[in-house]
Amino acid sequence: MTGDLQFRWELGGAGWASCRIADGAGEYRANVGYCTDALADLLYAVVGLYGDATVQRVSFDLEPVELRWLFQRRELDVALAMYEFPDGATSWGSPDETGGTLAWSSSSPRGVLGHVVMEAAESVLREHGEDGYREKWMLHPFPVAALQDLRRLHQRDDGCRHERCRGGFEG
Ligand SMILES: [Zn+2]
Repeated sequence: MTGDLQFRWELGGAGWASCRIADGAGEYRANVGYCTDALADLLYAVVGLYGDATVQRVSFDLEPVELRWLFQRRELDVALAMYEFPDGATSWGSPDETGGTLAWSSSSPRGVLGHVVMEAAESVLREHGEDGYREKWMLHPFPVAALQDLRRLHQRDDGCRHERCRGGFEG
């Protein structure tokens, strides 16, 4: 298991965002296009790890590369593998084993993953607000409901020791 998982999401110019994930062993960065509702999809994938599902997938459009996140939960740990497919137009929906290159992988407790993804989304909202987000991401509004779901499940189920996660967080 690697520690110190970090995740950042920053809106760039109109219609793209930069995404960075890192742990003690390395980092991965990507510029994500707005053809999919990428941040919402990612939040919902992480939310899914709090239910019965043990596997969640999200695909980002890196124009033309497809970046596919594969989350596999085992008990309370989550292994994340990120694959790049050179031609997103043909790879979308294909099996992970076919034609993808493993670009990054890491494993962490679900509580750590949930916390850093929640915080990254909150910091986007703090910085831009819902209106500012919509202006930059254009095709999709800020995923308020997905963030609320993740916050609620993380604070309920993960026993997170961050100060702001203990005893519930208002607002
Ligand atoms: Zn937390």
